[in-house]
Amino acid sequence: MANAPVPKNSETMDQDQFLTVLSREDALARFEAALFPRPVPSEQRQLAGALGCALAQDIVAPIDVPPFDRANVDGFAVRSADLASAGEAAPVRVKLNDDIIACGTVPTRPVLSGTATSIATGGPLPRGADAVVMIEHTQPAGHRAIEIRRAASPGQFVSYAGSDIARGETLLRAGTVIGSREIGICAACGVSELAVARRLRVAVISTGDELVQPGRPLGPADIYDTNGAIVTAAVNENGGEAVFLGAVADDEDKLEAAMRDALATSDMLVLSGGTSKGAGDLSHRIIARLGKPGIIAHGVALKPGKPLCLAVCDGKPVVILPGFPTSAMFTFHDMIVPLLRRMAGLPPRSDATVTARVPVRIASELGRTEFVMVSLVDGADGLIAYPTGKGSGAITSFAQADGFLRIDALADQMRAGTEAEVTLFTPHVRVPDLVIVGSHCTGLDLVTAQLSRAGLVVRSIAVGSLGGLAAARRGECDLAPIHLFDDKTESYNTPFLGEGLELVPGWRRMQGIVFRNGDPRFEGLGAEAAVRAALADPACIMVNRNQGAGTRILIDRLLAGARPDGYWNQPKSHNAVAAAVAQHRADWGMTIAPVAHAAGLGFLPLAEEHYDFALVTARKHRPAVQAFLQALASGQSRTALELAGFRPA
Ligand code: AMP
Ligand code: MG
Repeated sequence: MANAPVPKNSETMDQDQFLTVLSREDALARFEAALFPRPVPSEQRQLAGALGCALAQDIVAPIDVPPFDRANVDGFAVRSADLASAGEAAPVRVKLNDDIIACGTVPTRPVLSGTATSIATGGPLPRGADAVVMIEHTQPAGHRAIEIRRAASPGQFVSYAGSDIARGETLLRAGTVIGSREIGICAACGVSELAVARRLRVAVISTGDELVQPGRPLGPADIYDTNGAIVTAAVNENGGEAVFLGAVADDEDKLEAAMRDALATSDMLVLSGGTSKGAGDLSHRIIARLGKPGIIAHGVALKPGKPLCLAVCDGKPVVILPGFPTSAMFTFHDMIVPLLRRMAGLPPRSDATVTARVPVRIASELGRTEFVMVSLVDGADGLIAYPTGKGSGAITSFAQADGFLRIDALADQMRAGTEAEVTLFTPHVRVPDLVIVGSHCTGLDLVTAQLSRAGLVVRSIAVGSLGGLAAARRGECDLAPIHLFDDKTESYNTPFLGEGLELVPGWRRMQGIVFRNGDPRFEGLGAEAAVRAALADPACIMVNRNQGAGTRILIDRLLAGARPDGYWNQPKSHNAVAAAVAQHRADWGMTIAPVAHAAGLGFLPLAEEHYDFALVTARKHRPAVQAFLQALASGQSRTALELAGFRPA
């Protein structure tokens, strides 16, 4: 039932690749149909060693718990009928039997009418007794007798056999994950060994000539193998037992040998890379030789993640994840983890998703299921999911991301305000204590470092000044760093605040033109003259900034309507501008002095701008906000800012 017929040589392969792209749902349905039903692999484990495992079989109680009727209090076992008339004013006198029933004592004498037997909490009720009276409601009354001042109802202070657990009752169902409570239940009925789902052995292989394992030196065109580490950890996080077999070069024979070895010793094989068009894309060809039915889906309508390849070889799933680490993450968490857990007899992961509101509209391509990385923050009524970087090649953006959401293939957007399900990259996400949304500045890290050292989690999301203001007005952040110049009042920031926001002065930073030292088009000129010279030279390429950035407003004013080459290259940070110039992708751009100097570039100062904070007044009382204000005012921050080239306000 392979949708991508397996060709005999690589030429036809190239033509057939992705000929039939399946929807996410079709691909999953076909994969599941090829894999299930199947028995859950199981093993016997001693009770203590079963912690965290999933039960492979139901557990039926082999005994009653408690195994006998037993006393709940320290006192006397009695016949309740004897005490019908007892009261404070009319105590009833009974004779004491000479048994004393402690825990673990087997009673020898019956309780006859008019008698009582001393019994401790947990002691087995003697024959004839139907209730226990508390020692506090009795008093000695001469030789071997007591007086009882309370009536007793039948069954009083007695736990009957089987009242906690009845023999034959199903105690725990297959699939239950064993925790301390479940261990206690088994121990109470004497179960010492359990049949649990065996951890699924998942072989992990990375593919690509360019891959180097972390810890080894990186050659000029090499990159570190990220997927191997990610997939290994994610398998282990989900109840599997990953066996990482390293990165294999793009060599058909070597790869086939590695895949055969991997399959022989494991329940499942996960590869990454080598599934898109390209000379080294071999793994899917090899799969055809490894067992039936082979490839189930190759090419799935995902964005990113289209090259995903799903196969089954003699009953074992073989998955080839896309090479880009973020694509590998999305597809693995969204499509493979649920299958892995089902194969391993584990329930779906309840801690792996949360519901959160999307504050902005997210555009999406029709016809492909789209994954969007998000960063979670606390809102007034629940969690908010901010979309972060969308590029499939970027691993850096998942340093800021908590998880991802999925936009249906039939939708061309996700509307602002949508409640979306977010799949977490790592469960137990800690929502940040302080949320800063707006313009990014390297100086900010110098201030928030103090908060991080104090154990507070700070999340700063770079969306530009205007985006930050909008988030602050919606109450989605604590602080919005802004640097916005108002033409009318010729002043910074304050005119933009509006109701509910107040200004916290930050620092001044010199904005200017950045260029490579020695470039005669800029060297020795003033910023304005340099830009005029640059505009006059058609070979001169600029690098711009994103819409909504304060710096962008300055650039547009300086360009006065001109659109030089490079105008549409609009990165989102000061550092990216400096990198573009340093790496000769552009000749000039606008950035702040500390960033230009750190990159070893020339700098022509233009204007000192005010980098301040719009504080959401309603959130001012929060401890993390107070901590931030203190850190900002501290001598330590001011010194650090000055050293880095900023001028604290
Ligand atoms: P491929 O599908 O092999 O062409 O890979 C697509 C992209 O992902 C390339 O830029 C690869 O260098 C990159 N890539 C593939 N495998 C890995 C990996 N294990 N770790 C990091 N990047 C990878
Ligand atoms: Mg590759």
